[in-house]
Amino acid sequence: MTTIAVIGLGHMGGPMAGNLVKAWHEVRGFDIMPAALEAARARGVVIAESAVDAVHGAEIVITMLQAGSSVIELYEGGLLAAADPGTLFIESSTIAVDDARKAHDLAVAAGHQNVDAPVSGGVVGAEAGTLAFMVGGSEADFARALPVLEVMGKRIVHCGASGLGQAAKVCNNLILGVSMIAVSEAFVLGEKLGLTHDALYEVASNASGQCWSLTTNCPVPGPVPTSPANNNYEPGFASALMAKDLGLAEAALDLTGVDARAGRLASELYHAFAEGAGQGKDFSAIIEDVRSRSAQ
Ligand code: NAD
Repeated sequence: MTTIAVIGLGHMGGPMAGNLVKAWHEVRGFDIMPAALEAARARGVVIAESAVDAVHGAEIVITMLQAGSSVIELYEGGLLAAADPGTLFIESSTIAVDDARKAHDLAVAAGHQNVDAPVSGGVVGAEAGTLAFMVGGSEADFARALPVLEVMGKRIVHCGASGLGQAAKVCNNLILGVSMIAVSEAFVLGEKLGLTHDALYEVASNASGQCWSLTTNCPVPGPVPTSPANNNYEPGFASALMAKDLGLAEAALDLTGVDARAGRLASELYHAFAEGAGQGKDFSAIIEDVRSRSAQ
């Protein structure tokens, strides 16, 4: 049994902490939202008075927050200082590569270990313990994190040095954002040309257009009965989260000078959509945006 602190018990952190409890670890959690604390308590998490209180005596600290700034603020605001020397910090939020490296340097300077370990698989994967983890850090830090990550995920990939877990996440979601727009545009073009959704799906899903955005998260109702399109575009993966991740991809593009025009356009489209008609909807609802821009 390991004593593990989980800071951030939201949609993802709550069920991740619950799975650690089920694996007989002692889990101490903290969140600033009372509702998140109550839900975590019901999962068997011991609720701490504060984030700093939660890390006292913990061997491993997992952070699962919205933004990189929150991670850095918590690290600098007492979390690193309160932890026992040699604590392993697993940073699982989706944040900028730069922020992940800064968090790593702060943790190491304070005498701790750190990996960045963002996830994919969404709330369903967090509940089921089937997340994919993309991990950045040294071999030794990865080896120490692995048994804990295996409780919460089923595919754990060591991507390289610190920050490269976030790099893999941002590259994957760049593919996802662009591919969902491409699939949506193809369906709307098919509609205008008189092609049924089923016919296009049957062809593209068995041909070179095949991709996750088509065959798992299909943006039209019908061909994939479990996709959010069949459920009024309830997320799923919310358009706001896609906009956030494409913003992180743009930050990485700025950093590297890569000329990714399709990715930048996808980011622009998703930011406008998430703040407008796409609020609260799955990111596949972008097809409605394509349709409304194509109305004649
Ligand atoms: P969420 O908003 O549900 O959870 C974040 C939690 O952090 C909230 O409960 C919030 O109250 C808490 N929090 C904020 N500041 C805090 C602080 N100072 N101390 C303690 N708690 C604090 O978000 P989520 O959906 O759980 O996502 C978490 C991370 O995982 C994000 O970076 C997101 O991009 C990433 N992610 C989410 C999904 C998804 O489908 N939801 C999928 C993959 C990755």
